[in-house]
Amino acid sequence: MINLVLFGPPGAGKGTQAIFLARKFNLVHLSTGDLLRQEIAAQTDLGRIADEIISKGELVPDSIVIDMIESKLKKPKTTVGFIFDGFPRTVPQAQALDQLLRKHHSKVSVMLCLEVEKEELIDRLLKRGLTSGRCDDADAATIENRINVYNEKTAPIIRYYESQGKYHPIQGTGPIEEITSRLKETVENM
Ligand code: AMP
Repeated sequence: MINLVLFGPPGAGKGTQAIFLARKFNLVHLSTGDLLRQEIAAQTDLGRIADEIISKGELVPDSIVIDMIESKLKKPKTTVGFIFDGFPRTVPQAQALDQLLRKHHSKVSVMLCLEVEKEELIDRLLKRGLTSGRCDDADAATIENRINVYNEKTAPIIRYYESQGKYHPIQGTGPIEEITSRLKETVENM
């Protein structure tokens, strides 16, 4: 199985690139952000809890997102693997993912980290906010908080994968197709 972790700060382009990579390598795309937004749209109890947290730019508790991923991995699928987009976002989530995949006799193959400067992230998110309808893209203060939360709680994951020899930084700027090519090349050379 190929299991890709697509990593990077908010606005790095994970969602866009995950769709291309899933298609190219025939992988199931799992985005915890999308799963949470589905809960919000369906107005479930979990959705109501998530909505409040997401609109502040904070992270949803580990147990919630880990359970979501666990239930997706449990479903029998004939797939060559998964692409994890926006998960893991904390070191305990990364550890939980390793454990879950171990249960399925599998492991994370590679962590692809999209690198984009803070100014460009803010610019991209503010632009996306004009059309995305996402409350967490709507104002500069929430965006700033999301980037701070990333630096504080999510970026330490880099060391976690680096110590396993799985961390691959990828330049996340320039034309979208060029970024896709860089990602594809890294996966193909794995
Ligand atoms: P995303 O679509 O990946 O940008 O996620 C949108 C928001 O959902 C994030 O800012 C978090 O509030 C929440 N979220 C998504 N994935 C996770 C995760 N793995 N852990 C905690 N919160 C998450």
